[in-house]
Amino acid sequence: MNNLLIEKSTFPSSKKNKLFYETLFHVANGYMGVRGSIEELPIHPGTYINGVYESVDVEHAEPLYGLTYKKDTIVNIANIQGLEIFIDNEKIDFEKCKVLNFKQTLDMKNGLVYRETSYLSPNNIEINIKTERMASYKRANIFLFSYSISTNSTKKIKVKSYVDNKVSNYVKKNDPRANHKQLAPIEAQFSDETTLHSKIKNSNIKIKIEANFFSKLEKKISYNLNSICCTYENNERIDFHKIVEISDSLRKIKKTENLDINENTLKKEQTEYLNNFWKLSRIEIGGDEKLEKALNYNLYQLQQSKSQDSFAHLGAKGLSGEGYEGHYFWDTEMYCQPFFTLTNPKESKQLLMYRYKTMKQAKDNAIRLGHKMGILFPWRTISGNECSAYFPAGTAQYHINSAIAYAIIFYYHCTNDKEFMINYGLELLLEICRLFFDLGNFNNGKFEIHEVTGPDEYTCLVSNNYYTNVSVKYDFENLISISKELNYYIDENEINNFKQAYKKIYLPKSEKLKICLQDDSFINKPIWDLEKTSDNDFPLLLNHHPLELYRYQVCKQPDVVLANYLYPQYQNNDYIENSYLYYKKITTHDSSLSSTIFSIAATRLKLGEEALSFFGNSAYLDLDNLKKNTEEGIHTANMGGCYLAIVFGFAGLEMKNDLLSLNPTIPNKWEYFSFSIIYRKTKIKFKIFKNKIEIHSENEITILLNSKKYTILGDFNETI
Ligand code: BGC
Repeated sequence: MNNLLIEKSTFPSSKKNKLFYETLFHVANGYMGVRGSIEELPIHPGTYINGVYESVDVEHAEPLYGLTYKKDTIVNIANIQGLEIFIDNEKIDFEKCKVLNFKQTLDMKNGLVYRETSYLSPNNIEINIKTERMASYKRANIFLFSYSISTNSTKKIKVKSYVDNKVSNYVKKNDPRANHKQLAPIEAQFSDETTLHSKIKNSNIKIKIEANFFSKLEKKISYNLNSICCTYENNERIDFHKIVEISDSLRKIKKTENLDINENTLKKEQTEYLNNFWKLSRIEIGGDEKLEKALNYNLYQLQQSKSQDSFAHLGAKGLSGEGYEGHYFWDTEMYCQPFFTLTNPKESKQLLMYRYKTMKQAKDNAIRLGHKMGILFPWRTISGNECSAYFPAGTAQYHINSAIAYAIIFYYHCTNDKEFMINYGLELLLEICRLFFDLGNFNNGKFEIHEVTGPDEYTCLVSNNYYTNVSVKYDFENLISISKELNYYIDENEINNFKQAYKKIYLPKSEKLKICLQDDSFINKPIWDLEKTSDNDFPLLLNHHPLELYRYQVCKQPDVVLANYLYPQYQNNDYIENSYLYYKKITTHDSSLSSTIFSIAATRLKLGEEALSFFGNSAYLDLDNLKKNTEEGIHTANMGGCYLAIVFGFAGLEMKNDLLSLNPTIPNKWEYFSFSIIYRKTKIKFKIFKNKIEIHSENEITILLNSKKYTILGDFNETI
């Protein structure tokens, strides 16, 4: 399992690279996330709790009715990784030391990040620091640090490890994807030597952080306000560990317990947990180890990011940084959730339950926008309230409702969890469809939808966005069929309305070009000349006024292409193919949500090598900092997108009338690839080679393989 190690042995000298490593090596367990700072040289050693936010005012130059005036922002709650070292009572300035050795490692098998660094101080003392850290999956509130520090000096060395309550948020001006304003400091007080109580000013959420220290050098230790000081002399090595327990008032503040948990027990539990995780989640790519590692890194990050309860969700940056202010978007459902639905349906259900719990806010959001019925989920949020301040590229993306509907329907198809559907899923689906029915209108016999924005954020507030319309068709169709199947009561008039809208919904297309039209006016606009655009101009959103982008045919990310991947049943193959070729030429991939979808679309068109080149870049997006903004956090949607590209792209998995269907393509460079899924409680492993496929199913299943039906139990082989 060596391929589950991510290592960096080049010391990150610049501030930007240190920030990048802090993200790359952050440690999280879905509840809390701690950035992977080099403790003695931190840049932004943030700590975050999923679902915990500050509420800040949004100022508008022109305060129109109904705009968003308050938004949630993720909060850096404390620095729990403080570390200082003194020689003869003089603090070492590590900036002035020479780095002799460095290695930082993420061990994804055992759920640990460790680091070894050796420095030479200006007065020629060698200092070696070894650290190890983990966020326990089994005990979500527990974070463990272990330290081992030594020098070659006989002088008196003092090591101070502490929790710092005076922290600030990460601010980056001139980038709409980052936070611009410093948050009000959180009120934080130590109630005793080891416990810090904080209150976030406006959201009023309370947090408790307790740190306990353990060392064999008992006699040489002193405690002072959440810090430990260990003193030693004569080349002695100092080993200690620190267990931090964090809890919050959204869930429940924990009572003070004895935190004397054995370090080895914690580690053993962690390995066991991850063993189970990898059994189901691991992807193998025969012949490309580097890619395999990158893919598994991405899946590991999804697991680190996903809330363990339904108080919170999965943010666009996970728990790794403050980009996008820690918000949850449609990405979770469309890009990340299929991974959980197919490998751990229980966890997938939790994500849906978070949406269910926030239905009241979604109702208020719909009312705010003048809707007479239904619910509209917020474009971006933590608490469930709409936090999008720029509605053209935010709230107007009504398609988030369809992303949630898609996740519900996909979950149902994969699990057959009728109980969930009857108690929660259909209620959500019905309210979503009500909103869409209210949003659209019949015009000349067509059901049309006006003033919305599709996934492509370089084209805003349009009529009949193909993606939105086709997704709404799917939502209506599934509500009608699943409610009938499960005898779920819906008023007859209402069902008839949905049936009419489903039949009549308008899907714009050009007969001449034989393509789907992104919306009613898209094709009438001039085409942006991407070939003549200089590399420095990307991403265009940082260098062009939105209106300039809106009046051209230029896409930030797939819109029609995404629609045809998700909802191909509503389109002819030649339109799907021509649309791919048309939109490929005008897509910038400025969003990290782009290339994986193009990869899937290319595979389906049997453009294997093109699919691989789109895919190859996405797999390394964070590991190689390809978007040059990983310092603000990982890109979870792209990570989920990589999974989609393997399973729905290369393997060609589809659900066809209750049957699993597979249509594999394997890039030349790969010998084989393999992955597992859980479908209706049955674990199935697929291993796809150039000329054959191996399948192992724990229970009997029927599968369509390249359109031929097979019944499989246990091991199965077939040439392809
Ligand atoms: C994309 C959105 C996405 C957001 C958060 C933006 O760049 O255009 O589709 O929801 O990032 O990941």
